[in-house]
This record gives sequence, structure tokens and C-alpha cells, in this order.
Amino acid sequence: MGTDKADILALLRNSKDYISGQQLCDQFGVSRTAVWKVINQLKEEGYQIESVTRKGYRLLSCPEVFSESEIVSRIRTDWAGQKIYYYDETGSTNIDAKRLAEEGAPHGTTVVADKQKQGRGRRGREWESPAGTAVYMSIALKPDFAPDKASMLTLVMALSVAEAVTELTGLEAAIKWPNDIVVNKKKVCGILTEMSAELDYIHYIVIGVGINVNNHLSEFTEEISKTASSLQIESGKPVSRAAVVERVLFYFEKNYDIFVRKLDLSELQEAYQKHLINLNTEVKVLDPKGEYTGIARGISKTGELLVEKEDGTMETVYAGEVSVRGLYGYV
Ligand code: ATP
Repeated sequence: MGTDKADILALLRNSKDYISGQQLCDQFGVSRTAVWKVINQLKEEGYQIESVTRKGYRLLSCPEVFSESEIVSRIRTDWAGQKIYYYDETGSTNIDAKRLAEEGAPHGTTVVADKQKQGRGRRGREWESPAGTAVYMSIALKPDFAPDKASMLTLVMALSVAEAVTELTGLEAAIKWPNDIVVNKKKVCGILTEMSAELDYIHYIVIGVGINVNNHLSEFTEEISKTASSLQIESGKPVSRAAVVERVLFYFEKNYDIFVRKLDLSELQEAYQKHLINLNTEVKVLDPKGEYTGIARGISKTGELLVEKEDGTMETVYAGEVSVRGLYGYV
């Protein structure tokens, strides 16, 4: 039933003309009553659907609905998000995706939620996750490469989010190495990659993405209100969250498939560096072994940040334990 709804919605969205009830019955092998029920459900969810005798149904407007069928009806990938689990509320989409991966969910299975009660960032930090405004999504991957390649996927996802945001909003979405997406120097997205592996074998990887889409400034806590922003705040327009999910999955599938060809970032390096906010600027590396400053010169083929120190030597910065800051603030 759920799938029929998404399929009918997709058909209505992609057709400029009326689609007759009979056509829907034939195409999905369901009864007239079943079609009528689905149309009514969609209307209740807020879709405006015109029905004209002897012509059929036509979708007039697509409100900002964030639901399983709205998301599924848009997906056009081969594997990323082919199976979507949507929750109005959950603890953490990363935890859900890990559980599903353990239970045998296929590569590309994706969890999306409207609200997280325990949204997390790197190293146990909190990710603020209110309802009704943002995207929280986690994709489960079952690759057959070695565990030491996995950290590069965070950069593959960062690039994908930057491309999705740029396409949907026209904003300049920058990447703050390795895993934040920044618009006008404010953080609009965080990415958390987790893995279950043995020394030489990956059980699964989960990449979680939190994107502030339609948040208003007043919705952020005091703590992050100076560094955080949303796509709506920066573009002045609301953005469809379902479209964000679809574009992120679309670009991620494309970039992941490029990544696995060589198992490094050589073919994505240029695109990544185009978005890299730190490129050729002074950065402060908050290394637990000692802070230092230098000029970021790009990323290596394996995703480390290359920082030129004052004495001209090039430092390779690994993502695991360090944070990078602009000299005078967050970027
Ligand atoms: P750093 O910038 O130090 O490298 P990080 O990349 O390790 O940070 P993340 O794991 O991406 O951090 O995110 C956690 C941090 O992001 C929190 O400590 C908080 O400062 C900030 N934060 C939490 N929720 C949000 C949100 N909804 N939007 C923007 N920033 C947030």
C-alpha cells in the first residue's frame, strides 16, 4: 500500500496532463476503490489534487510534505535510498541504520527522520535535531573494500551534500574540511561516519547527515546560534526537505560509484577542492599534540588536509583527532 501511494504520487508529479483513474488501476493492478483511497489520503496530507469527471486526476501543488511516500516518489537512484525507512521521531538515524545493517539490510538502505531525540556529532558531541525543519538521514553501506578506505567516504558525502545544496538553492555551499557544509561562513550541515569492522573486513558503514533546511535563527540554542544557519535563512526561501534527501542520495550514489573505481579521491579531488572553504587560507589545526597554524593547500588523494607551515614544510592532517578552525573563528 505504501509503495502504491509513492508510485501514484510519482506518476501524478511527472505528468502535466490528467491521469485517469482507470489508467492508475491498470498500471498498479489495483481496484478503483484503492486508487480513490490513495488519492484521498494524499489530499489529507495536504496535496491539492484536482479530479475531473472523464479526465482523471491532476496534481496542482506540492506542499512541503515530509513523509515516506513524498521521499520515495522522488527517488531515481539505482541503489542509494532504494529502501527508505522514515520516522516522525527517533533517537538517532545513525543508530537505526546500524541496527538495520546488522539485521541484513542491503547496501544503500536509508533512514530519514523528522526529529531526533539524541542526535549526535563527532566524538559524542550533540547535534541539535528539532522537528519540522531539518533533514536527518543515515545511509548504510556494505562495501567490499578494506576498512582503511572508509574515512574517505565522509569527504565523498560532504561533496555530495555541497553539490545538492548548490543545485537546490543556488547558494555557494562550501566544505569545511573534512565534514561540515558551510554557507556564508555558517554551518548548515554536519556529517558523522561510523563503521563496524574487523581488521581487514568491513561489516557495514553508516554515514549520517544532518542538514538545517528551514530552521529559523530563533530555533537554534544560544550555544550554536553564532556558528549555525539554515538553507532558508541563507537563501531567503523555504526548501523542500524531500528534495534535499533525493538530491543528496542522487549525488552520493554518483560520487560513491566514482570513488570505488580507484578506491581513492583522485577523481573527486578537483570537485571537492572547488568547494573547499579552507583552500589557500590560514587555518589553525587543533591537534591534541599541539596547535599550529598554516595555509591549507588542498586535500591528498586519500582525503587528508595538506597544511603548509611557516617553514615551508607540508603537514598531512588526519581527520580523526583534530579540528580545523579559521584563524579568527569557526571558518
Ligand atoms: P569541528 O567544527 O570542531 O570539527 P565537528 O565537525 O567535530 O566540529 P560535528 O560532529 O560536525 O562537529 O557537529 C557537532 C557540533 O556542531 C556541536 O558540538 C555543535 O557545536 C554544532 N552543532 C550541533 N547541532 C548543530 C546544528 N543543528 N547546526 C549546526 N551546528 C550544530
